[in-house]
Amino acid sequence: MQPKLSIDLDKIRANAALLAQLCRQRGVVVAGVTKAACGDPLVARAMLAGGLELLAESRLENARRLRAAGITAPLMLLRLPMPGQAREVVELFQCSLNSELAAIKALNEAAGAAGLCHDIILMVDLGDLREGIWPDALDEYVREIARLEHIRLLGLGTNLTCYGGVIPSPENLGRLVQYHRRAEAIYGRPLPVISGGNSSSLPLVLAGTLPPITQLRLGESILLGRETTARQPIPGAHLDCFRLEAEIIELKEKPSLPVGEIGQDAFGGAPVFVDKGIRRRAILALGRQDVVPESLTPPPGAEILGASSDHLIVDVTDYPEPLAVGDVLAFNLGYGALLAAMTSPYVGKEYCGER
Ligand SMILES: *Cc1c(COP(=O)(O)O)cnc(C)c1O
Repeated sequence: MQPKLSIDLDKIRANAALLAQLCRQRGVVVAGVTKAACGDPLVARAMLAGGLELLAESRLENARRLRAAGITAPLMLLRLPMPGQAREVVELFQCSLNSELAAIKALNEAAGAAGLCHDIILMVDLGDLREGIWPDALDEYVREIARLEHIRLLGLGTNLTCYGGVIPSPENLGRLVQYHRRAEAIYGRPLPVISGGNSSSLPLVLAGTLPPITQLRLGESILLGRETTARQPIPGAHLDCFRLEAEIIELKEKPSLPVGEIGQDAFGGAPVFVDKGIRRRAILALGRQDVVPESLTPPPGAEILGASSDHLIVDVTDYPEPLAVGDVLAFNLGYGALLAAMTSPYVGKEYCGER
């Protein structure tokens, strides 16, 4: 059997509805981020069925897939646009996140040529050191953007806990709100959106300490049910919307220490081993071409020992059921595993729940 990713659309819909409700109570609109599901139209529909009205994607290919499937909800582009793709960006997306004037000017021209008005959110780097203008450049950017005829500035945004691991706080998101007020004064008009981050901002929502931002862009919390500063479960959310199954192709008792001199493993790493004596080991037809093994959680009683391109080695000595070659083990997925499994052409997808 090919590795199989089971996708529970009912649970994704329920998570979307739960988070939409939680955020709505604080005046926050949720954009449903589909990128970790590779712009899967059924996953996107489950988010919309849960009550979200806006979807967000990082790739043009995924946005095209959503549109080709007949999804008409407004789309936001998450990754900074490449100026050379401006024409496609304004055709596919109502709104994009931006931090470079060259790209914004390219979007302005493309929107003008297409007879459109394109919305942008200006990203401000609050210290995570991924995208965003440094705050001292704010005035200049807003002034330049205000000159562009086919661009409408919706407001400011930020992204945290992605590169630098910086945790959203009342203090740093409070600064975003201050910058937003300043941008409104320069732009000379109210700006409706303060886009205050991703699933890592949810602990502030839950604690009731979120500054007055108006939008969150949520992916992982909808798909996997966790916030992303410490991967704590969101109360009431499903943690098992996705499950990855793979088949046992070898099952044998073997020593836990390799026999012979140890060099490098298949990926140039230096493997380390603990001697636990003779153990029962299963090899599964699942590897790095399918998934990120480090981001898998095995079933109780099983322990992942390692992986190569096509093999996952699992200690099943303590597995509670009898096992045989041809049996299937099911794993829970973290973000890295989900992203890889959704992207891998070797992993089959199976949906359950209402479409
Ligand atoms: C991926 C992404 C998100 C969603 O992040 P999650 O942690 O999955 O909620 C939000 N904003 C931007 C800019 C992103 O790239």
